[in-house]
Amino acid sequence: MATIDGLPPLREVIQTHDLVAKKALGQNFLLDMNLTAKIARMAGDLTACDVLEVGPGPGGLTRGLLVEGARRVLAIEKDPRCIAALMEIAAVYPNRLSVLNADALTVDAGALLTPPIRVIANLPYNVGTELLIRWLSPAIWPPFWQSLTLMFQKEVAERIVARPKTDHYGRLALLAQWRCDAKIVMHLPPEAFTPAPKVHSAVVHLTRLDAPRFEANFNVLQRITAMAFNQRRKMLRSSLKGLHPNIEGLLTACEIPPTARAEEISLQQFCSLSRAFAAA
Ligand code: SAM
Repeated sequence: MATIDGLPPLREVIQTHDLVAKKALGQNFLLDMNLTAKIARMAGDLTACDVLEVGPGPGGLTRGLLVEGARRVLAIEKDPRCIAALMEIAAVYPNRLSVLNADALTVDAGALLTPPIRVIANLPYNVGTELLIRWLSPAIWPPFWQSLTLMFQKEVAERIVARPKTDHYGRLALLAQWRCDAKIVMHLPPEAFTPAPKVHSAVVHLTRLDAPRFEANFNVLQRITAMAFNQRRKMLRSSLKGLHPNIEGLLTACEIPPTARAEEISLQQFCSLSRAFAAA
């Protein structure tokens, strides 16, 4: 069967290179090239961008990125079995695909690419959240990337875009929305993947803001949200008791009811409390 890029169908690639999926590496592959090209389009115009892809596997999304015109793709894959298949793609797109056989957690990818840079990936479930937190927490903002278009388990995607007073609202939503616009752009059922995972998935698109939405010190904000959400059902005057001897006064000065719970407090209010705490 013909493919949109003339390369062999992904099922054939998997057979040829004997890429039996390994659960420990979070391997759930996308084999439909129309779908991978659609995910690439969700990231916006790629023609003037370098793209970082983590976990290319047999290369379905990688091929989608190249078909959609990415200027250059750096694909970091931990599984050495996938490298030969990826090098076959690189041969068809001279100077546009670099493949690195490495653990993405150990690579300073920003240093290897030329801005503007977009990160686009169907992330391995076991390191996906850790990578996202790292990309959202660099020492200097703005970060090396312009946008992140990332596949997660649906539940993680909902935690990233969650609003106050909802079950999924917590530290991940606050961190993501403090520094980015974040939205879910696609939902995928388990059958979209081979092998099919147990859960549904979703693609989240995050666009960085030039500066955080509200002023706050990163470390202070992290400390306060950690304390507040570690005991999310408790009133703030109790969960934040160890933060300051007069926590009730601090909360009241920020117009936050001391009896409110973490999940009721907006990003703006958490930032305001961070500033008040830093000043105190
Ligand atoms: N992008 C492919 C697709 O959409 O079909 C594969 C996605 S699969 C969910 C995740 C991929 O990440 C696998 O190929 C796995 O080997 C790779 N991987 C797992 N941990 C990794 C790590 N720490 N660094 C780089 N790649 C990793």
